[in-house]
Amino acid sequence: MVRLTFYGGVREIGGNKILLEDGGRRLFLDFGYPYSKYRDYYEEYLKPRAGAGLLDLLVMGLLPHLQGIYRTDLETGNLWQQIRQAEHYRRLEDIGGVLLSHAHLDHSGHISFLREDIPVYSTATTAFIAKAVQDSGRADFDQQVCYFTPRVEECLKGWRQGAYVASSSGDQQRRFCIAGRSSLSEDAERFWRQVIRRKKLDSQSMDDIGTCDFNLLCFPVDHSIPGACAWGIETSSGWLVYSGDLRLHGKRANLTATFMKEASRLHPRALILEGTNVDKKTNIPEHEVYENALKAVGAAPGLVIADFPARDVDRLLTFLQIARETNRKLAILPRDAYLLKTMRLLEPEIPDIAEESAIVIYQETTASRSPAQWLKKTYEEYSGKVVLARDVASNQSDFILCFSFWDLNELPSIQPRAGSLYVFSSSEPHNEEQQMDFWRLNHWLEHFGLHGFGLPVERDGEWEIPEEERGLHASGHACGPDLLRVVREIQPRTLIPVHSEKPEFYQDNLGDSRINIVLPSEGGTVEI
Ligand SMILES: [Zn+2]
Repeated sequence: MVRLTFYGGVREIGGNKILLEDGGRRLFLDFGYPYSKYRDYYEEYLKPRAGAGLLDLLVMGLLPHLQGIYRTDLETGNLWQQIRQAEHYRRLEDIGGVLLSHAHLDHSGHISFLREDIPVYSTATTAFIAKAVQDSGRADFDQQVCYFTPRVEECLKGWRQGAYVASSSGDQQRRFCIAGRSSLSEDAERFWRQVIRRKKLDSQSMDDIGTCDFNLLCFPVDHSIPGACAWGIETSSGWLVYSGDLRLHGKRANLTATFMKEASRLHPRALILEGTNVDKKTNIPEHEVYENALKAVGAAPGLVIADFPARDVDRLLTFLQIARETNRKLAILPRDAYLLKTMRLLEPEIPDIAEESAIVIYQETTASRSPAQWLKKTYEEYSGKVVLARDVASNQSDFILCFSFWDLNELPSIQPRAGSLYVFSSSEPHNEEQQMDFWRLNHWLEHFGLHGFGLPVERDGEWEIPEEERGLHASGHACGPDLLRVVREIQPRTLIPVHSEKPEFYQDNLGDSRINIVLPSEGGTVEI
């Protein structure tokens, strides 16, 4: 018998953490960062204490109470004695690995806490994006997916108790097992081992997914980040299929279609399927985003700012095409340049920044005295392509700036002329914090006389994009009818919806099928 225990992704969008047990063999399906659970307790200035290791996360219920699966350097004092009474406490040592579906943190973030010898199974693109994001960002201790800084106890003079501080001896890389490992180029291998931060990296070689003690199938699917996949796992009860996040209306929709066909041939015993957009009746495809945004940018007299989700490489390429056609330069931030360069190691069709005349790199106006290695290297490598705020300020109609809310701080250095355009190509706010950000964004736009296009507005407490300004964002998730198509084509015996606020949707709409639908509960187990 196979047991599935759901420690995350139950009635929440993201935070998937699903334990699969088959005899003595065990795997996790994703090990994500539970944004909505964090929001219940934490915000920007109130965060779990890095120095308290696992304690805050276990006590506050943000991590499953599973002794034996976590990094021992994060175990403070008598940690497990305090946790042992918790409802779902279990001692669990043998975990064969994590099957990671894609590099969004709500699926990968908490891998950060797992023992370093627990391997992560993923596509090469997912592993490389995870590393690029970490290399070029400031990963908090609860988002160090690809490598981490071990913590050591230090006794400070005058303190009654030791403190757990980040070790200065260097970072430790995780072991990744890559689907199609053998086809990686030498440059790609070098990137994986490269020491890109100031600290020394204790690097790990990569393995292939064949090292898993389950027979695995990795199916590439289309989502709003490259490298996403679904997994097939052969268990003693039959094949189990885990969708990760997917859509049927993006640039790589054929991948999802192929997955559906191949998964149906397995006659799966169970399908674990996402349900983010069950409420949506239709999708906006990426080519419509392109057409609508092209129209808006083409008619814009001055500067254009394009706001789209980080790591959505397809969207970046959509705006690159628009830049070419409107005779503008697409000004991207160094971290996007670093991501594109990394992606090109695996996908040669990604444009080479050095050769692409429509891409320039925007250098932020303020800098630190000791910039990170990756940043220095990026500016050096593309030195002929770097533009400054004053270059943009004096030739505003020559640029599309790829900025989001978090980059607005550059605007005082640019001073966009009144009538400039802010194209919003992302999703509506889902919570109060994001609503506050929109409230602030509106003030920024007003202050500089920027014309917002595609921005959600509040009407009776609901935030919606006005009818005539829709069509500037293709979601990463399939709409309700498409999700039903996925189930009907794959035809599992049992369907288990996750990653959804309304999993009942499947019961309401699949009553005529013979598929058994099981809604998991938080910490509960489903046997198949
Ligand atoms: Zn997700």
